[in-house]
Amino acid sequence: PGTPIEFSLGAKAIQKNIGILTSGGDAQGMNPCVRAVVRMAIARNCRPFFIYEGYQGLVDGGAKIKEAGWTDVSGFLALGGTMIGTARCKAFRELEGRRTGVLNLIKNGIDALVVIGGDGSLTGADRLRAEWPEHVRALEKAGLITKENAEKYRTLMIVGMVGSIDNDLASTDMTIGACSSLERICESVDAILSTALSHQRAFVVEVMGRHCGWLALNAAISTGADYLFIPEAPPSKDDWEASMCKTLKASRDAGKRTSLVIVAEGAIDRHLNPIKAEYIKDILSTRLGYDTRVTILGHVQRGGAPAHFDRFLGTMQGAEAIEAILRAKPDTPSLVIGMLENKITTQPLKEAIELTGQVAQAIESKDFARAISLRSAAFSKQLKSYKEIANFNPDSKMKLPEHLRLRIAILHAGAPAGGMNTATRSAVRLCLNRGHTPLGVHNGFPGLMRGEITEFDWLSVDGWTIAGGSKLGTNRDQPTPQLGAVAYQLQKHGIQALMVIGGFEAYTAVLELARNRSQYPAFNIPMALIPATVSNNVPGTEFSLGSDTATNVIVQATDMIKQSASSNRRRVFIIEVQGGNCGYLAVVAGLSGGSTTVYTPEEGVDLSRLQRDISHLRSRYIKELGRSEGRITLCNEKASQIYSTDMIAKIYEAESGGFFGARTSVLGHLQQGGTPSPLDRCRANTMAVDSINWLQGKCWEAMDVPNEDNIRLPSDKLKRKYFPPVYSPLSDSAAMIGVIGSEVRFTPVEELVMRTDFKRRVPRAIWWSAARQLIDILCGVGVDIEHG
Ligand code: ATP
Repeated sequence: PGTPIEFSLGAKAIQKNIGILTSGGDAQGMNPCVRAVVRMAIARNCRPFFIYEGYQGLVDGGAKIKEAGWTDVSGFLALGGTMIGTARCKAFRELEGRRTGVLNLIKNGIDALVVIGGDGSLTGADRLRAEWPEHVRALEKAGLITKENAEKYRTLMIVGMVGSIDNDLASTDMTIGACSSLERICESVDAILSTALSHQRAFVVEVMGRHCGWLALNAAISTGADYLFIPEAPPSKDDWEASMCKTLKASRDAGKRTSLVIVAEGAIDRHLNPIKAEYIKDILSTRLGYDTRVTILGHVQRGGAPAHFDRFLGTMQGAEAIEAILRAKPDTPSLVIGMLENKITTQPLKEAIELTGQVAQAIESKDFARAISLRSAAFSKQLKSYKEIANFNPDSKMKLPEHLRLRIAILHAGAPAGGMNTATRSAVRLCLNRGHTPLGVHNGFPGLMRGEITEFDWLSVDGWTIAGGSKLGTNRDQPTPQLGAVAYQLQKHGIQALMVIGGFEAYTAVLELARNRSQYPAFNIPMALIPATVSNNVPGTEFSLGSDTATNVIVQATDMIKQSASSNRRRVFIIEVQGGNCGYLAVVAGLSGGSTTVYTPEEGVDLSRLQRDISHLRSRYIKELGRSEGRITLCNEKASQIYSTDMIAKIYEAESGGFFGARTSVLGHLQQGGTPSPLDRCRANTMAVDSINWLQGKCWEAMDVPNEDNIRLPSDKLKRKYFPPVYSPLSDSAAMIGVIGSEVRFTPVEELVMRTDFKRRVPRAIWWSAARQLIDILCGVGVDIEHG
């Protein structure tokens, strides 16, 4: 499952000269992408060339096109923006400008081009590709290139990657920069919320997105905003001001102290007239009398160090770009690299551009349903769920009919992880708006046994979107010692469906309940498991809630430690990270943080491995005398029973030949993070909504099932009148929701047993082996760095 790409040095490929440029608006993550392209190119025996200042450099040529070396991209991972410059180039929009660009590429012997930019830049790239043969013929005719060169450079392979904070390329879920930009927005809005809360203010926050509402939508989900305006989904009524006021007032009447409206800079009404933040403010001030402020976030959104995810995405896509170039045949169309859920995709550039253009056309022709459907499937799903959750729905007529309403309990189990509260809030609010009764189980399974169960109301989860840890209380205890008590409480409280949010303990607990259904009728209810663990060590999903938050914390820490190591010169830090027997955190944070190597339980540690790593470091430091970098190595807490983090550092130092020193740093519980990352918040929301929909479906199916076995149903006569019995004994009604490759899927927990190594508490298969390979390649293990 997962990203099906494999990177290896393999046989020496035919050498290609590959130009790389960044164009359009800058985006965090462009630098990691450039680094990966350059290093992967060198590792695959190609010559990379920087083309500075985007298409302007292509048109200007000369010093703006320069061969890139291995160390030219050192330190790029942690830098926002683009170190090779970007520009909006008028000349490239003209045929003559593009022809000069072609001449410059041929002069430099460049036969493949990597373009990292937004849809405009990729449109330019697509035009260049389409016109290439014509340009080559014209240049030959004009005597500017030789016949041999005209023959040699008959085609140009272009690979595009979307570097854009807007996340506006149709058919990809994520573009490079979007996640970091979302983080900047959420940091600001989280901060605004505390002042809004103190003064009972309303805030209207404008975020970037001239044609695409992804940032605004995801910011609204991640911050629990009350109202949202985006270009793809204008308000359906002309008198939208009245609807907005009515909705915000209902939430205030229900006890909310603040109102938060997020508006994309390109927001419009259904007649395509712009909707501006100031106008919204005036409406809220005059009609509702709210003390309302406007914050326009502006360029802050482009700034700062890239989030872990953008480094990861940029790196994986950059490496894949080189593989795609090397795989290409003369008739291979230019490609764009994208991502669906957790799957790196490649598709013809032309198709992606056309599809993206159709979104703008659909908006222009006011076909908004089509505009939304043309964005990724994830986008429309998010928008639908946002609308259902954002506001309190006091109107009982809007809810489900009485007989379809359910009592759904939510419980946290295992160690705390970022996103547990967010998922709970989304589930609770969705339930309330549909008329279900959400029940909070406090303090995990022991709390359930003791009957610590309360009904949630709308306000009880206010502010939970951004709260780290577990508000319900969580622990590692299993239900096993007192299954009878668990059954009793489920029955007593008329619980018809159970949502468990947690990691490995949550998984084994749900499995235990499912396996004991024949003994305890009360367990025959649908159970949904939302994976939440920083270690990301549960089977059935490639991502668990909290793992993005943890990786971000590790990467931020490694940036700081690296800086210290660099200031001291010639120092290597061995940083110990969590993960139990799962090396995920070490590998993914290692790739995003620029670790020289990683030690994982999957690979183990032995002397020959240490020797190899030390000799690699020595050779690097010997060559770098005078300009020695600081370096880091991530070590999982259980990588070896013998070679502890401390011991590895001592061996490093002892065997360094005096060329470098070694220190340790143990990150410990910091990795559980404070506030969950926006990506964890968004994933939490999606998983919660999908799980409630799934539980609901399973319950309704089960309510139709006649009780043929005459098993005593889990509720007494009176309760049955109000809470229809749910009898759902099939194994597929206790399942985990997970991201697998390009899909979000429910897998029965009993099916996951075969995929689990229970002794080590890890999945049997891992999807991140390509990332592990890349760490070695991008750090130059086995690579002839000097040729670059
Ligand atoms: P962002 O998403 O940040 O706006 P972008 O790549 O869409 O990034 P643009 O300003 O649209 O930014 O495009 C960047 C550059 O790409 C332009 O300055 C121009 O040089 C080139 N370009 C854009 N559209 C075309 C086109 N239709 N034909 C040729 N070149 C183009």
